[in-house]
Amino acid sequence: MQKETLALHYGYEKDTQKTMSVPLYMTTAYEFDSSTQAANRFALKELGNIYTRLSNPTTDIFQKRFASLEGGVSAVATASGMSAIFSTIVNLCEAGDNIIVASAVYGGTSTLTDHTIKRFGITTKKFDVTNPTDLEELCDEKTKLILFESLSNPNLQVANFKAIVKIANKLNIITVVDNTVATPYLCQPIKLGCDLVVHSTSKYTTGQGLALGGIIVDSKSCSKKIKNNPRYKHFNEPDISYHGLVYSDLEYPPFTMRMILNVLRDLGSTPSPFNSWILIQGLETLGLRIKQHSKSALKIAKFLSKHKKVLKVNYAGLKSDSNYKRAKKYLKDGASGLLSFEVSSLEEAKKIADNITIFSRVVNIGDSKSIITHPASTTHQQLSKEELEASGINQGLIRLSIGLEDTDDLIEALKKVLD
Ligand SMILES: *Cc1c(COP(=O)(O)O)cnc(C)c1O
Repeated sequence: MQKETLALHYGYEKDTQKTMSVPLYMTTAYEFDSSTQAANRFALKELGNIYTRLSNPTTDIFQKRFASLEGGVSAVATASGMSAIFSTIVNLCEAGDNIIVASAVYGGTSTLTDHTIKRFGITTKKFDVTNPTDLEELCDEKTKLILFESLSNPNLQVANFKAIVKIANKLNIITVVDNTVATPYLCQPIKLGCDLVVHSTSKYTTGQGLALGGIIVDSKSCSKKIKNNPRYKHFNEPDISYHGLVYSDLEYPPFTMRMILNVLRDLGSTPSPFNSWILIQGLETLGLRIKQHSKSALKIAKFLSKHKKVLKVNYAGLKSDSNYKRAKKYLKDGASGLLSFEVSSLEEAKKIADNITIFSRVVNIGDSKSIITHPASTTHQQLSKEELEASGINQGLIRLSIGLEDTDDLIEALKKVLD
């Protein structure tokens, strides 16, 4: 089945009430028929709901649907995109390990991987996703994952999937792709040979800025990389915190199972069923929306690239962009709704952000309403000048998330502040 159909139907068998809309199960816990059944569920002899920190029927449908859209085998939803990324790192790493992260990533991912996880004894090395020549050299026996964004936020680089996957597969290291900006409609990293896909579903998935959420999609190749691989020994050895369970011996994907039974159990980064329900509504129209966002963004990128006050436009859908070739190869149906452009100074950028109409000054992306962000004073403010430069964020950089308004109106609003 095609993604448009899966997004509307997959994972929901109409229950006894035959509700057309997926039911919202707002509950923290579930009753057992007997203490034997309870014991069997805890011992995994019978799979079933115990407590919403571990599983919930509404969240379960959202997970199944999302996994099907990404071409994965299973998925685990989390409270936010950041918790999806943190939980993934926690599931694969321990103190003394290292991870390899793209130099240009979302601000929160950057502070998490550069600073916060260091306090847990996990270090980070950086690589260039567009030209990963030193990637192999950076990896060692303690490297547990390679993390990058398919289409990076905010400087919109398209990753060189082929080169990255080749090295990761040679060394048997798990690749984790943040596919938030591209969405599974424009890019399916698992089909390109990657192992795990993470998302902030707070962006294009909800689509109207309604709910925070994250998700991690697991794949067959991830299970294969884990099985009997000394790099991932804690999946292959008994977990003493779960009476000796060996995750890779289960008939279910080991990454997903450990994520639920160990990480969610102990960290509790579970979404509210209400947010899962909202995100299911968002998924239904994601395909239509992302194609329109992409079309509108291309039109606006073309307008900006001809404007004399604009020094540079970053949009992978523009022929003049250095990512264009990879965009043609790896992105389908457009280059998403995010673009950024540079003006001459911090003051000029602030003036534009302060005076523009229609666009909201908000630090979010993927909303139906257009958004303007000045990364240097907001999302990337915590980064030092050197860190800003390394991640390609200029002081005069402005990011736009193009919404679903009429593009002529948006261009008119931009003209007024630029002219
Ligand atoms: C927003 C975002 C995140 C973080 O997601 P939250 O849901 O805000 O926690 C991670 N990665 C990318 C690419 C993002 O745009």
